Amino acid sequence: MIDLHCHSNVSDGMLSPAEVVRLAHQNGCTMLALTDHDHTGGLAEARAEADSLGLRFINGVEVSVTWRKRTVHIVGLNFDEKNEKLQNLLAEVRKGRLKRLEAIAGKLEKKGISGAYEGALALAANPEMVSRTHIAEFLINEGHVRNKQQAFTKYLGDGKPASVGHEWTTLAECVDAICGAGGVAVIAHPMRYGFSATAKRNLFEEFKALGGQAIEVHSGSSDKNDCFNYALLAQNYGLLSSVGSDFHRLGDYSGGVLGVSPELPEICRPVWACFQAA
Ligand code: AMP
Ligand code: MN
Ligand code: MN
Ligand code: MN
Repeated sequence: MIDLHCHSNVSDGMLSPAEVVRLAHQNGCTMLALTDHDHTGGLAEARAEADSLGLRFINGVEVSVTWRKRTVHIVGLNFDEKNEKLQNLLAEVRKGRLKRLEAIAGKLEKKGISGAYEGALALAANPEMVSRTHIAEFLINEGHVRNKQQAFTKYLGDGKPASVGHEWTTLAECVDAICGAGGVAVIAHPMRYGFSATAKRNLFEEFKALGGQAIEVHSGSSDKNDCFNYALLAQNYGLLSSVGSDFHRLGDYSGGVLGVSPELPEICRPVWACFQAA
């Protein structure tokens, strides 16, 4: 009953940090990390709620990284959220979001869709955290697409008409900041990038050399087969294993149940062993 990857409305989730913790607890969760995109603003509220419920809470964040011109997400766990270098890096990463929204809105305008800038901003609780999820919501509300998946396949996904290349931070800076704050760096949902075997090998080797320690072997609705394959990869690269629902909202595409993850294959060394030792 462990979930080390989920979102609140501090980034692109639906529930407040306290609501996320309450729902996870209801679902039977015993250890939870809140991992909002590029922001730790929900941790204090989530921790207070978890403490009152007797649920073990782990500080978390999901950092947007550009690696070989592709976006890769790195989860940081169990770090000191007051660490200045980490907070500076996150602030730097967040800065790009409004500019990117402007560029995406411009491309949507060319496709005959206006108002995306204001529309997406109105849906984000925090303007500097405006994400493609909010743009997708705007497109749904305006009747341009039926659902979030279609928003990405029709407009927002990589290589689609409204996609915009974006430089987040580097893998090296990200891993360095997480480790420097006493945390553990984890490659998020490696099964979702569509990388070739070679690209995966390069990413895992580079990540490990930089001090990265774990990969998610299960994420959201990924299946048993994936889980076993990534468990083997973790073993081969000497990396620890993490799991997370990547929960954003009720009834969402990814299908992960908040607070609950499947049991790890026996060959895995769980990432939470290092929290318990701490
Ligand atoms: P951003 O960080 O603004 O680029 O937004 C990325 C977010 O969009 C991810 O964290 C997911 O929540 C969501 N997302 C990305 N790709 C898809 C997809 N194909 N279908 C649905 N949601 C997606
Ligand atoms: Mn998201
Ligand atoms: Mn992600
Ligand atoms: Mn996520």
